[in-house]
Amino acid sequence: MRSHTAHLWMNTSERRAMVDITGEVEDELARSGIKEGLCLVNAMHITSSVFINDAESGLHRDFLEWLERLAPYSKEGYAHNRTGEDNGDAHLKRTVMGREVVVAVTKGRLDFGPWERIFYGEFDGRRKKRVMVKIIGE
Ligand code: ZN
Repeated sequence: MRSHTAHLWMNTSERRAMVDITGEVEDELARSGIKEGLCLVNAMHITSSVFINDAESGLHRDFLEWLERLAPYSKEGYAHNRTGEDNGDAHLKRTVMGREVVVAVTKGRLDFGPWERIFYGEFDGRRKKRVMVKIIGE
């Protein structure tokens, strides 16, 4: 079995953002030379997510508005923020949107369903964060 590990660096200019990272993951798959296996992509920070969905800007606005209703930004509204942080909402948003995705690799390509793309979800941005890509197989 072969394996390939890489890190993508993220640094969004907005506090909250959704970034299509499919092309970067495909680049890592090409670098790996792996034709059959599995590709794990995970956020390495507890206030950001990796998830799969449609590359449609209206849907991304819907996600962000829905998350804001579920866990509105508030300096005082979260016990977590008594630590002096202000990102209690971001931890909750990250948990709803998930930590990682696993995509099958078939014939050297990410084996997606129709319209699937991989996104990085940022909920406490404006700083450098990492996403891990780990591909295993033959
Ligand atoms: Zn925190």
